[in-house]
Amino acid sequence: MHNPITEPTNLSISGMRDVIGGKVITPEDPGYDEARKLFYGADRRPTVIIRPADAGEVAHVISVARDTGTELAVRGGGHSLAAHSISDGGIVLDLSAMKAMHVDPEERIVWAQTGLTAAELTKALGDHGLAVGFGDVGSVGIGGITLGGGVGLLARKHGLTIDSLLAAEIVTADGRVLQVDFESHPDLFWAIRGGGGNFGVVTRFKFLLAEVDEVYGGMLMLPAEPEVIRSFVELADPAPEELSAIANIMKAPPLPFLPEEQHGKPVLFGIMVYCGDPDAGVDVLSPFRALADPILDTLAPMRYQDVYEMMGGEEEAAPTPEAVILRSMFTDTFEDESAEMITEYVGGSTADMAVAQLRVLGGAVATVPDDATAYAHRDRRIMVNVAAMLSDPAETSLHEQRVDRLAARLRRDPGGVYVNFLGEEGEARVREAYPGPTWQRLRQVKRRYDPTNLFRLNQNIPPAS
Ligand SMILES: Cc1cc2nc3c(=O)[nH]c(=O)nc-3n(C[C@H](O)[C@H](O)[C@H](O)COP(=O)(O)OP(=O)(O)OC[C@H]3O[C@@H](n4cnc5c(N)ncnc54)[C@H](O)[C@@H]3O)c2cc1C
Repeated sequence: MHNPITEPTNLSISGMRDVIGGKVITPEDPGYDEARKLFYGADRRPTVIIRPADAGEVAHVISVARDTGTELAVRGGGHSLAAHSISDGGIVLDLSAMKAMHVDPEERIVWAQTGLTAAELTKALGDHGLAVGFGDVGSVGIGGITLGGGVGLLARKHGLTIDSLLAAEIVTADGRVLQVDFESHPDLFWAIRGGGGNFGVVTRFKFLLAEVDEVYGGMLMLPAEPEVIRSFVELADPAPEELSAIANIMKAPPLPFLPEEQHGKPVLFGIMVYCGDPDAGVDVLSPFRALADPILDTLAPMRYQDVYEMMGGEEEAAPTPEAVILRSMFTDTFEDESAEMITEYVGGSTADMAVAQLRVLGGAVATVPDDATAYAHRDRRIMVNVAAMLSDPAETSLHEQRVDRLAARLRRDPGGVYVNFLGEEGEARVREAYPGPTWQRLRQVKRRYDPTNLFRLNQNIPPAS
């Protein structure tokens, strides 16, 4: 439960306006309601939303929050599933005005400011035939996704987003602007590769880019028979690492390009990218096509930079639910019984949208040692997300019970969760995101760079005592 804080009395908005070249938005300003909206609802009223123009201004906002004891929320693309990027009564440091990038195609490097979305950066890099893998939705901010790890459609070939990260510029709680990499502040560089927004505000990332131009990919919709779901996972697991696949089991939406008789029926909606020779992609994907008569098959050669267009492009920013309940986990096996439970849940749910998502991992994700980054689930084979999206937040507890029941039945030892798919689920679940020695190591780094836990509106890692 989020506790609103009392409005800070010693926070000077006019003082802030004198320093910040970017926007300073208060409840009296037009655009306030738009600016406080997150991707998934969360009706909270910050005292001020500040859009700094550069790292210096970010440092100023951090120092004001620190010196006035005001709650500080950090916002990139606004897709936090736990509504961590909005504050009731505090400051929102909104990075969305910081969208500069510098691409060096020769060196295959980009420096990108963290106000960019995955789609914006992917499109710009695509013009050079280069890419860094983010997630499956283009409006997600590169800040939040990268700091948690980044699991997307290039993961099995090129690893997590953090596996392409060479350096970052970060403003810490004491207002210093640091450049961190493998040599400079290596502890902090390790921690921000999976540890989320706990250690400071990242203003720029430096990524090594992969040559990714034409891929073979698209959407494949199949009937959600349990046998089809299980076989999909069974095929995706040993497939060449060029293939990354996400299976969403959900009721078919009433879209004009889907046959009317399928509307409302459970389907497996596969999103697939084969990032290698498109001809080889045809062969690799043919067994998936053969699992059942496809309801929709858009698999074809495509430019990787168009991947987010394929998913709906700008329209994805259209009406989004007011509430989301999501439970995420890793599993290493997937049985018939799991597939049956998923189809039962999706078929029986009365949520506006009920979905179970399966992401088969492995490949390049698994070649990095567990202790190399703060994302330490390298050997886990399958990520499972169970969700209900609601237009009426009053129905939350009803659907929460159903989602929790299914999640408990799908859960297999040793548990574990990807931090970026955590909701507000308590410290024990945050610890599950950081298995083994990772948790204590992160707490030590937190003590060094944020001893007073200024950055606490996140999946919080308390400083070591
Ligand atoms: C529809 C949807 C699809 C998704 N798909 C994927 C996917 O395919 N793969 C995947 O890995 N994840 C996915 N995610 C999860 C996503 O990575 C996280 O929700 C992520 O935190 C969103 O980043 P953001 O910048 O948009 O969010 P915000 O809400 O702006 O930020 C979330 C948190 O991240 C931290 N943060 C953000 N930017 C910075 C920064 N520059 N410096 C310091 N801290 C910062 C803050 O703590 C903030 O509270 C998805 C989420 C949604 C809602």
